Amino acid sequence: MKDAHVNLAIIGAGPAGMSAALRAKQFGLSVAVFDEQPTPGGQIYRDVMRSRSQKLQHVLGADYAAGKNIAQPFLDAGIDYYPGSTVWRVAPGELSWTSKSGSGELLADRILAATGAMERPFPIGGWTLPGVMTAGAAQILLKLDGVVADDAVFIGCGPLLYLIVNQYLEAGVKVRALLDTAPGTNWFRAAKHVAGALCSPSYLMKGLKLLSNIQSSGVPYYSGVESVRIMGTTKVAGVHWNDGRRDFSLECENVFLHQGIIPNINLTMAARCDHHWDDLQACFRPVVDPFGRTSCDWLVCAGDGAGIVGARSAALSGEIAALAIMHDLGFLKAADFRRETVPLLRLRRKDQRIRPFLDARYLPLARFRSPTDPQVTICRCEEVRREEISRALSEGCPGPNQFKSFTRAGMGPCQGRMCGNTVVESFCADTGSSPDAVGYYRLRMPVKPVTIAEIGGL
Ligand SMILES: Cc1cc2nc3c(=O)[nH]c(=O)nc-3n(C[C@H](O)[C@H](O)[C@H](O)COP(=O)(O)OP(=O)(O)OC[C@H]3O[C@@H](n4cnc5c(N)ncnc54)[C@H](O)[C@@H]3O)c2cc1C
Repeated sequence: MKDAHVNLAIIGAGPAGMSAALRAKQFGLSVAVFDEQPTPGGQIYRDVMRSRSQKLQHVLGADYAAGKNIAQPFLDAGIDYYPGSTVWRVAPGELSWTSKSGSGELLADRILAATGAMERPFPIGGWTLPGVMTAGAAQILLKLDGVVADDAVFIGCGPLLYLIVNQYLEAGVKVRALLDTAPGTNWFRAAKHVAGALCSPSYLMKGLKLLSNIQSSGVPYYSGVESVRIMGTTKVAGVHWNDGRRDFSLECENVFLHQGIIPNINLTMAARCDHHWDDLQACFRPVVDPFGRTSCDWLVCAGDGAGIVGARSAALSGEIAALAIMHDLGFLKAADFRRETVPLLRLRRKDQRIRPFLDARYLPLARFRSPTDPQVTICRCEEVRREEISRALSEGCPGPNQFKSFTRAGMGPCQGRMCGNTVVESFCADTGSSPDAVGYYRLRMPVKPVTIAEIGGL
């Protein structure tokens, strides 16, 4: 595929990437879509086209099954689709990808990063022990193979956590306990966004139903959890926590952690797009215009990768971004562009009315984003502890990027995905500076592990 050329290369076959591809194809653009997953769907609709038992279909629910309505047309549209293919480099007008069966480069007039979200790191004592996973990882096992863990403790907060616990309950799996870390004080932050939430009754009702199912299921539910530690030496043996009044502990073998999701920004960061810190979502996101255009004129961003919006808005933003690209490349006249985008922008605004409420209600406590215990591991790949930030600061380290040279934090296989936010917020906590002032790691290609031979092949 070396030197092949398309009008639009899309990275990610989630709701945003698939919708963008369908729109662009409909208007006659040549489109190639890359996704490291073997089947289309992204996170929410992972492997949605696979046929499953009636029971598993029921467990995963109607929102999951709805993914077929977009994945099937995507597969039928004659789009050049590269499943199981990881894009590890983007540059103006070109990208490099690798897969089990080969690798290559592609020339593209525009690149759309629809790389979605990832779970926010939740660095607490014991989180590196065997037996601990993220709740999202537990859901991936459920979606892919119907695999579950009996008697697990779920810890964290946010709509996705409650959804996954509900899916476990629907599957008839015993849940040991849910430790809810949503801070009660967040209600004050969320109160000013209640009007927006009330304008989205369907989302609100869904959320209330998830919570009330959990509370009426008999699963031990502990709210207001303020500190938590996973116990064990070679594997998980239990959990110890405090709710501000009392200490509790439970024996268990599996713990699933979740503190919401944040944009997956490694590609846009490595491309040197401008990013800014979003206070409400407590994460960096690329600076984009309403159509997803970034500060790099060759790179557009759609979906959760540009800031968490959820699946419906991700699909809308994919369509909007595709229309903007077609307009910018001269495939769509200005008047047609306006006519096509105005209703989509309106729908997205409507869909986003509940978002500030959700962001404020489920913002994790600062100590769950930047640990106060100096012994907690913050970079799992390079085994760097929280105390090393204070030490590096005392030795004159100015920020996260230089912290890489001091400790190798962020330089392992995950390229900072699992520690970036924690390191930034820890520098802020220790210096009193803002995340925008502290900055992020200066990321470079390759953004995913590749062989030396592939880089040499360039
Ligand atoms: C683990 C997890 C589980 C979730 N489950 C649910 C759920 O059950 N229900 C729900 O409502 N919401 C869920 N969400 C949130 C939901 O994923 C998003 O709101 C929505 O899917 C965003 O769509 P998107 O198209 O922006 O990104 P995604 O759906 O995340 O799609 C992004 C795609 O990009 C691919 N990708 C990323 N980087 C590269 C690269 N370098 N090369 C090639 N491919 C790449 C990924 O493999 C992925 O398929 C989940 C999020 C996460 C992180």
